[in-house]
Amino acid sequence: MTELLNIENISVHFPSPGGRVVRAVQDVSLSIAEGETLALVGESGSGKSTLGYTVAGLQPPTSGTLRFEGVPLTSRTWPAARRKIQIVFQDPFGALDPRMPISSTIAEPLLIQRIGTSASRMARAEELVQQVGLPRDALNRYPHEFSGGQRQRIAIARALSPNPRLIVADEPLSALDVSIQSQVLNLMKEVQEKLGLSYLFISHDLAVVNHLVDRVAVLYLGRLVEVGPREALFGKPAHPYTEALLASVPRIGRKRARNAGAIKGEMPSPLNPPTGCVFHTRCPRAQPMCSEVVPVLEAVAGQGAHQAACHFKE
Ligand code: SF4
Repeated sequence: MTELLNIENISVHFPSPGGRVVRAVQDVSLSIAEGETLALVGESGSGKSTLGYTVAGLQPPTSGTLRFEGVPLTSRTWPAARRKIQIVFQDPFGALDPRMPISSTIAEPLLIQRIGTSASRMARAEELVQQVGLPRDALNRYPHEFSGGQRQRIAIARALSPNPRLIVADEPLSALDVSIQSQVLNLMKEVQEKLGLSYLFISHDLAVVNHLVDRVAVLYLGRLVEVGPREALFGKPAHPYTEALLASVPRIGRKRARNAGAIKGEMPSPLNPPTGCVFHTRCPRAQPMCSEVVPVLEAVAGQGAHQAACHFKE
């Protein structure tokens, strides 16, 4: 498959009072192919949304390189790429301007990018409301007149308006009722098949991830601890953190590896991450060397595409 996005050694740090630094994302490398869906999973505070915002151009990285369609993204190349990388947020109500009719909301990315005429932008909005399963009269209405699921459809239509190639979906289902989640998930799959889109799908819900994605990347305290094809990673996780995340989702029905159990304790502060392996303070398999030596992300035995950062991976 042809690579669309390459994330190389990206770190995102934030200054904190007292001159300290929050290492929200630390040295993460990943790629997304054309038409592929990559999930970013992890607990709250793992850095997944920060990395998603960086990919969407909303949060500059502190260091590292993003390449899109083979071109490094810099202040010179971002303007051309921006149209092709769109984002759908978790809270569709917060993301839509309550004073703006739906037609203008959907057409706004085209207006910002100076694409088309007023008439062609309205025609595009009309086409998109139908594509996302809303009635044509939705165009003249306002966000408060819609349900949560319909608002997320509007947010997806808005993201689709400039014909993107990659959509960063930041927990797009978590504000919706369970009964509505599958409808929005099906819509996302449908438009992906039709348009050949790639998704960076950020979620804490592994059951949802299991229905949509091709590959999964697991973040812990801003570090990439495991990545691989969904079947391999969910079927036989190699990292104890992934095991613990999966242990809380029996619906996925994997074989539980030894020591698997619900994750215990709190995630340490990114202001003061543990030495060695950042997971060692909560890891049931930790050995003395784990608090001293940082594990390298490397292939799980016999599977090049499945990698984990653990000295004692399964
Ligand atoms: Fe656990 Fe050690 Fe592996 Fe880290 S390196 S995940 S502490 S066994």
